[in-house]
Amino acid sequence: VLVLPGAVGGPLRLRGEFFLDSPTATGYFLGSVWVEGAEQLVAAGLTLDDFAAHDAVLDRLFAAQADRLARDDAARMDALLEAAERTRQQLQAAEQALARELDAVPDLLLRVAADGTVLTVRASASTELSMPAADHVGRDAFTAFPGMADGLRAAMAGAGSDCPVCTFEFDEELDGALRHFEARVACTDVGDLLLLVRDVTEQRVLAGRLRTQASCDALTGLPNRSVFTDRVAVALAAPEAPDASRACVLFLDLDDFKQVNDVLGHAAGDALLVDAAERMRSCLRPDDLLARLGGDEFAVLLAGVGAVEGTAAAARLRESLAQPFPATADRPAVVTGASIGVAAAVDGDTERSLLSHADVAMYAAKAAGKGCFRVFEEGMRDRLLARISAEMDLRAALEREEVFLQYQPVVHAPTGEVVGAEALVRWNHPVRGLVPPNDFIPVAEASGLIVPLGSWVLHEACRAAVSWPAQPGREALGISVNVSARQLVHGDLAADVRRALQATGLEAGRLTLEVTETALSSTGDAVLDCLTAVRALGVRISLDDFGTGYSSLTHLRRFPIDEIKIDRSFVEELGDPRQARIAEGVLALAAVLEVDVVAEGVERSEQAEALAAIGCRLMQGWLYGRPGTGEQLQRAGQHATRPGPVSQAGPPAGHARALRSAVGRTA
Ligand code: C2E
Ligand code: MG
Ligand code: MG
Repeated sequence: VLVLPGAVGGPLRLRGEFFLDSPTATGYFLGSVWVEGAEQLVAAGLTLDDFAAHDAVLDRLFAAQADRLARDDAARMDALLEAAERTRQQLQAAEQALARELDAVPDLLLRVAADGTVLTVRASASTELSMPAADHVGRDAFTAFPGMADGLRAAMAGAGSDCPVCTFEFDEELDGALRHFEARVACTDVGDLLLLVRDVTEQRVLAGRLRTQASCDALTGLPNRSVFTDRVAVALAAPEAPDASRACVLFLDLDDFKQVNDVLGHAAGDALLVDAAERMRSCLRPDDLLARLGGDEFAVLLAGVGAVEGTAAAARLRESLAQPFPATADRPAVVTGASIGVAAAVDGDTERSLLSHADVAMYAAKAAGKGCFRVFEEGMRDRLLARISAEMDLRAALEREEVFLQYQPVVHAPTGEVVGAEALVRWNHPVRGLVPPNDFIPVAEASGLIVPLGSWVLHEACRAAVSWPAQPGREALGISVNVSARQLVHGDLAADVRRALQATGLEAGRLTLEVTETALSSTGDAVLDCLTAVRALGVRISLDDFGTGYSSLTHLRRFPIDEIKIDRSFVEELGDPRQARIAEGVLALAAVLEVDVVAEGVERSEQAEALAAIGCRLMQGWLYGRPGTGEQLQRAGQHATRPGPVSQAGPPAGHARALRSAVGRTA
């Protein structure tokens, strides 16, 4: 840069070649000259040579630069192309994945223009259309899919800028079957409608089935408990008709249904429930509601009627269910029956209280021996509760071993010799003291506890009898055990007896089972089979309390009986000549049938005399000994309990032997 003093004034800028000869530089320059301030002329530049050299350098530089740029561009272009290709591939993969995902979507995807033209259709396997999807494109959606026309129209009308997603359902016939669809509609940015249409036929069928299941019993198809209680509530809310109750409810429980299930299997049990339901239905009016509450429990609602009609319906149902159910393909022949409770609505009754009253009455029917009906009355519940608490008490008593046996001697009256004993169960209650069997045996029978209790009595009596040694020259004492009707029907009595004999080593001929006539009447063949099986073991059968029940000849003929026990009430009335003649008749009958006779409840010597006079030799009663411990019995057995209280007339001594020979004769 040269600064030349004394230059021309004013801003001036010159560009070009100029020659300069100065102490610092001489030669031609290419540069600019400009005026810097008023006095200075400034020139800056390069010599031409420099410039030329510079130019060459620049040319090279430019060339190199251009070359590099060209190479860079090519590389960048390649990279760009590569990236573009990668993106293309990624897009393609994404598109394929999306297509696969869309294929998995069970919906029909439909894009419809604002004017109703179908723009795109994508069908899935489950939304197969009646024609190829593509054929719908360009058509009018309302005619292409007539089923959804209304819904689509409504969706279009509602499609605003904010475009909320809306749904509608429609039915469409496909391949002759009516299918149910659900459409979800959304608006696109450009104002088209995007519809996702799903076939929901299966869901609807399932939902319908679930609704039915929630209200119906799957096995019988009857309404269930919740429907029943709802309907009772409706009946109770109805205006009361003059002189009539608003509703009557019957509560039915099949008798011994558990046994059918246990013995014949659940399939047979189910089949019986279905048949029983059908039978019940046939006993009712079309307006009556029959429901299955669960298990073998059914209920009937008789709307607008009172106890009289309710009782009549209960009688019809009882009678019908008592008839045997003949064998079907699903189960063998079954005899059941039902216990029925009847409750008519009274003021203030709710559906719960009414059903509960009928339930309580049903339990009363069960307690009364099943196969019958009872009408609810005040006090029934208290009695039921008392029974339940007694049952719980007794259960605890069995666990705490509060029950024990006493033995009352049976005496051969002519000699006063003890020939055997009857085992009588007692309950030593921690609070109530000694509870007599008449107070708790019915509870045990009603609850089924009699089966384990009876089994315990049997084993205990056999065990005790084995421990009584035979007196020199005498037969060992026999032991009589009372068995209840329920033991004959439920549980396997013969097997239990066999077990007791095996476990204790008691000789079968020493054991007698006492059954009452009522037990023989309760059920037919089951009891006969049971007693026959017991007797086949060599065990004797005694008919207890004879004279208080049916005193039926049929029983004596039909069942394998070895002994009759004339009831105490009979013995009490022997003073009456007529009664005495009846007793004589019984003894004569026994002689013909070759069964022994024991008179029970002999308290006074004149009774013993009267019995002896008519030929009765075996006696049991306070006159000969009260129930006591095994030791007391053995002491009594060591000598005649009462020397010759009765006439010596009659058969010879050694009656126990006679009893056993009778067993040998008839077993
Ligand atoms: P049951 O089998 O007829 O027994 C005879 C009942 O008469 C016994 O009453 C006995 O104590 C009573 N008795 C005996 N002699 C006389 C007498 O001279 N005068 C009076 N007034 N009574 C006499 P208990 O022990 O109270 O038994 C009552 C009933 O309970 C028995 O009548 C029997 O049916 C039942 N029972 C007792 N033990 C059992 C048992 O282990 N199992 C079952 N299933 N029932 C039993
Ligand atoms: Mg008895
Ligand atoms: Mg008796």
